[in-house]
Amino acid sequence: MHRVGFTTTIPLEVLIAAGRRPVDLNNIFITGGSSCRLVEEAEMAGFPRNVCGWIKGIYAAIRESGLREVVAVTEGDCSYTKALMEVLSLEGIRIVPFAYPHDRDAGSVRFEIEKLMRHFDVGWEEVNRAKVRLDGIRRKIREIDRLTWQENLATGWENHYFQVSATDMNGDPDRFEAEVDGFLKDAASRRPFQERLRLAYIGVPPIFPDIYAFLETLGARVVFNETQRQFAMPYDIADMVEQYRSYTYPYDIFHRLADIIPETGRRKVDAVIHYVQSFCFRQIEDMIIRKKLPLPILTLEGDKPGPLDERTKIRLEGFVEMLGDRDQGPGTRD
Ligand code: SF4
Repeated sequence: MHRVGFTTTIPLEVLIAAGRRPVDLNNIFITGGSSCRLVEEAEMAGFPRNVCGWIKGIYAAIRESGLREVVAVTEGDCSYTKALMEVLSLEGIRIVPFAYPHDRDAGSVRFEIEKLMRHFDVGWEEVNRAKVRLDGIRRKIREIDRLTWQENLATGWENHYFQVSATDMNGDPDRFEAEVDGFLKDAASRRPFQERLRLAYIGVPPIFPDIYAFLETLGARVVFNETQRQFAMPYDIADMVEQYRSYTYPYDIFHRLADIIPETGRRKVDAVIHYVQSFCFRQIEDMIIRKKLPLPILTLEGDKPGPLDERTKIRLEGFVEMLGDRDQGPGTRD
């Protein structure tokens, strides 16, 4: 099956309808087991040190995977993507641009989806059929999310993994659905977690996935993964255009906050970790998040892939300790 890579979430329905095997480049970079080496290879190829690790990892992952065609999201994702596209096309990789219009105009979203459909030579009938198929899996992933925050039966990492994998269904929707089913069966027989603190994780997915397990050793579990949940299309909207208009990640921070604020309330979140990637323009949005989100926030910056470094662990420990002290109230410390 012909594989097609993409730089961030795109209307997956189009690739599935066209019989392509979808490859989310972020996922193969971070889960391939050699993410540090990929970043080094990109730097050896000429990428500056002060460029985001995800961009370098994606670049090297494309080269290593042998992919010949990539859908690149030129608007609504990353300010580095256009230059990445230029480098890749110089290397003979076919680039298919896709844009999320800044104003979320329905006509423009439809135009972009239909442009993608023309490129892959599929019509609305096949695409809507693919959507019904994918929505069935997305509903099961939504159940995993619900089990995480309402029943306390899934870890922060499990919540992250199943939602982030929804971008490409791990390249094989049938196999992925079987994995989701297996997890749901297993989770039903667990005893609920009883951690002291409930956290939200907002921002781009972490470059150090062990953050979830580490937080759980401190008695704090992530019960809301903002961006990953968005990747799994959480609103169950039948109309394709409306689904990709409601999807918050590619649009402005206020659209994202309109999702984050009620979700943190519904899930009884105690505090928020805002993850920012070194050299990412999205770091600037931290100022707005701090003004608008009425919860304690730790802004955590990551750069290279790999396990959590000691400094980051100390910051997380300090944050969790501070929240614990606050809950106990004044005068209750040892
Ligand atoms: S973390 Fe920021 S700079 Fe890096 S790829 Fe994502 S949007 Fe781009």
